[in-house]
Amino acid sequence: MGGPTTEQRMDFEYPPAAEETRAEIRAFLDANLPEGWKGLGALEGDEYTEFRADWRRRLYEGGWLGMSWPKEYGGGGRSHLDELVVAEELARVGAPFGGEHDTFGIGMLGNTLLMWGTEEQKRHFLPKALSYEHKWCQGYSEPNAGSDLANVGTKAVLDGDEWILNGQKIWTSAGGSANWIFALARTDTDAPKHRGITFMLVDMDQPGVEVRPIQMMSGPSHFNETFFSDARTPADHVVGRVNDGWRVAMTLLGFERGRDAAVGPIGFQGELDRLFELARDKGANEDPKTREELVKAWEKVQVMKFLGYQRLTAFMAGDDPGPKSAMDKLYWSDYHQVVTELAMDVLGPDALAYEGQEPRTAFRHDDKGAANSTASWAHVFENARAGTIYAGTNQIQRNIIGEMLLGLPKEPSLRG
Ligand SMILES: Cc1cc2nc3c(=O)[nH]c(=O)nc-3n(C[C@H](O)[C@H](O)[C@H](O)COP(=O)(O)OP(=O)(O)OC[C@H]3O[C@@H](n4cnc5c(N)ncnc54)[C@H](O)[C@@H]3O)c2cc1C
Repeated sequence: MGGPTTEQRMDFEYPPAAEETRAEIRAFLDANLPEGWKGLGALEGDEYTEFRADWRRRLYEGGWLGMSWPKEYGGGGRSHLDELVVAEELARVGAPFGGEHDTFGIGMLGNTLLMWGTEEQKRHFLPKALSYEHKWCQGYSEPNAGSDLANVGTKAVLDGDEWILNGQKIWTSAGGSANWIFALARTDTDAPKHRGITFMLVDMDQPGVEVRPIQMMSGPSHFNETFFSDARTPADHVVGRVNDGWRVAMTLLGFERGRDAAVGPIGFQGELDRLFELARDKGANEDPKTREELVKAWEKVQVMKFLGYQRLTAFMAGDDPGPKSAMDKLYWSDYHQVVTELAMDVLGPDALAYEGQEPRTAFRHDDKGAANSTASWAHVFENARAGTIYAGTNQIQRNIIGEMLLGLPKEPSLRG
């Protein structure tokens, strides 16, 4: 029988060109990271804020942002594999991949515009997302549209060559420092709910847009409410066709859920290594049950790694991440809740009295260099609860997997 052997299919060597990129980014890191660098997690207070701003500028000037985007849109014209190798190296040393708005502007919107944007939109918006002239946030969720996203009630009405928006978004992460928002708005109230939605780009620097911070139980305000009161945006700031924004929105969610599938495991492995260290310090590694749970966690990170390679291979072949990204999202967010609960068990009663340095990262795993402090683990444990909610809850990911990947019957709908 023909076809590749198992050995051929499982070749994880990178081609020489990608290894050249690795050497290039390593040289950049050597020349640009501060002396004695231990990872982002080791920075505190102003040191952290200043480093992030300066680092974002260096990444941009070095051409390390939007590396796989075509050159005519300000990108590097390089391969997705080059981009992955760079992300791997950044993750290895614990340096950020960009600024906090890049998740939205580059990872989500930029990649979506490459698939759906007009030539004019790509030439206008992509370079500005890279330069940080535009700092993006995501206007999807509303008080009555979370899991049921197609229920968005924010309305947009065409007035000459401008849309006028009215309504409210909620949970807008990084909305306080953003100056542009990509929003889903209802443009046809008579059409079935998925077919009357339009995806539009809105300048937030106008009187019709108001952002109000939401304070979390833990103190900070990572997200906001965003109100549109007769906010305006030009007619040509619609991505895709009018009333066909649902398809654009789903492409973007695929990037949101599947993005980082290949590099996420590097961060999760680093965090788990710190947990191994903590278990040794606390003597918890002597307990057979804890040892078994630690090994299970290690196994899960290995599986995550291979899922990531699978996603990357498909992405390089030009696949839209689509519904398969639901598997990645489900896998890492479930894993992270389990492993952070294990950390609480390892800490025992100490977990109730927070002490030491807190981590700065709100989402996913902690940062390389994070202290093995009770405060650090307790915060990561709390943040892990949000992982199964944002970017679509895990119940919704299971519905997607069941209906779109396994072909199971659709769940009954009350609204139709
Ligand atoms: C940290 C964080 C950051 C976020 N950032 C942003 C952002 O920047 N921009 C943005 O637009 N949104 C953001 N969100 C919002 C997020 O996308 C929503 O919270 C999420 O989609 C869930 O919606 P909801 O909160 O309205 O919950 P609901 O939809 O009300 O769900 C409540 C519960 O019911 C379950 N449920 C609902 N429908 C079904 C179903 N059909 N089958 C099975 N179970 C179901 C859900 O799984 C959940 O457990 C963020 C959320 C968090 C936690």
